[in-house]
Amino acid sequence: MKLKLIGTGSIAATERSACSLIDEKILIDCGNGNVKTLVEQGVDVNSIEAILITHLHADHFFDLPFFILLKNFNNSQTITKIYCPKGTEKIIEHLCNDYVAGQANVFEKWKNNAKVEFIEFDTLKNKEVVTGYYTNSYLVEHGDLKPAYGYIIRKENKAIGFSGDSTYCENINVIVKNSDIAVLDMSFPEKNKTHMGVDDIENISNIFNKKIVATHMGIQARKLAKEKKIKNLIIPSDGEEIEI
Ligand SMILES: [Zn+2]
Repeated sequence: MKLKLIGTGSIAATERSACSLIDEKILIDCGNGNVKTLVEQGVDVNSIEAILITHLHADHFFDLPFFILLKNFNNSQTITKIYCPKGTEKIIEHLCNDYVAGQANVFEKWKNNAKVEFIEFDTLKNKEVVTGYYTNSYLVEHGDLKPAYGYIIRKENKAIGFSGDSTYCENINVIVKNSDIAVLDMSFPEKNKTHMGVDDIENISNIFNKKIVATHMGIQARKLAKEKKIKNLIIPSDGEEIEI
């Protein structure tokens, strides 16, 4: 599997919003600015067959209207299934209709022409999101925002884990333990109630001895983690690719 880190930053960082791509087929999150970043990094959006949304914070899903619009422009023939929390489609309908100042009901037309389907779920259990790619969802803890999901995506005998935005909780252990490599929230130098810190990542690295990829990094967290030289930790730049 090829993991491409489209964006690795938090809102406060110069890097783009956290977003990852697997084998040019599965996108994890589609936050503010991510669609332009995909184009900039040479990714063909028509190759994306599934999008997994971790939670409904704008830096993780606000570019879905632009994804739909771009596929619409392209007359894309690929069906894209958007796996997302309950209520997502309604929000995207509003955002699409507000795109034209709330003066037109463009959503249904755009969605159909772009061949996009919304699949709102509570739990994904060994769900084949794209042929040969199986996904489990895990509830994680992200302050008051509920639900917030992490994922494990498996193809044959390889698995990539994603924490989404989360403080350190039991399901982070489950995700890391059951993956070959885990992409983890490392927003701040120190943990808080909504995000993991460099301290958590160092701890997880010591417990599991697994490869970890940091994402959703603020400026201070990126700097501190580089200084600490934490074993097994990859601190990627936007656009970096990792073969698993
Ligand atoms: Zn968030």
